[in-house]
Amino acid sequence: MAYSDLTPAWLTGVEEPPLVEVSSGLRLHPDAGAAFLQLAAKAKTQGIELRLVSAWRGFAQQARIWQAKWRGERPVYDAQSGVVDLSTLSITEKAEAIMLYSALPGTSRHHWGSDFDWYDAAAVPADYRPQLLPEEYQQGPFQHACEFIAAHAADVGFYAPYAAYQGGVAPEPWHLSFMPLARECTSQLTPALVHHALLHSELDDKAQLIALLPEIFQRFVQNVAAMPEPSQLAKG
Ligand SMILES: [Zn+2]
Repeated sequence: MAYSDLTPAWLTGVEEPPLVEVSSGLRLHPDAGAAFLQLAAKAKTQGIELRLVSAWRGFAQQARIWQAKWRGERPVYDAQSGVVDLSTLSITEKAEAIMLYSALPGTSRHHWGSDFDWYDAAAVPADYRPQLLPEEYQQGPFQHACEFIAAHAADVGFYAPYAAYQGGVAPEPWHLSFMPLARECTSQLTPALVHHALLHSELDDKAQLIALLPEIFQRFVQNVAAMPEPSQLAKG
């Protein structure tokens, strides 16, 4: 699959890529959406109701999440699901704390249309709202679905970029990425493109954040699980 229409604005969430609505209000690139529906159909045969929690998000939406955390209006969690006290932290430390679970706007894989967060609606009451916390997935209600994902997601082109902690983003067992598109996005996204997007944003302390970009890019964007090569996938 070639994505010759990838643009800087798509890569940084500034403009919408081609999208299809997969479930109410939640959209993915058509290729990722089709693969998700295939995976969900297979999951259903094993008693799992695979649903999206979050799919494509633009720069503006990511900026709202970021700003709410930056200003202390929305909790920032540490790896043990404890709430971080941001008031005593430097700008660098604050950014690091937020980026454990929330990407700096312009660097989110959710901008690409390839990535989403899922849960298993069959494992919880109808009014359950997934919190995207490790305890829901590791030993909690979504453990069975995690095992299914580990065994079958690659069959339709998905992999888990945040499978393990590598010093950047926390383990996010709920986050999957459609490899054919994400591979292209990974190779084309650069700090310069993010710099440009941030410069035109209204983020608090954006000059300091821009100064941190080289480190952020290395530690939180490039530092993800290695993608299996397409040839390896074909064999599987
Ligand atoms: Zn995610």
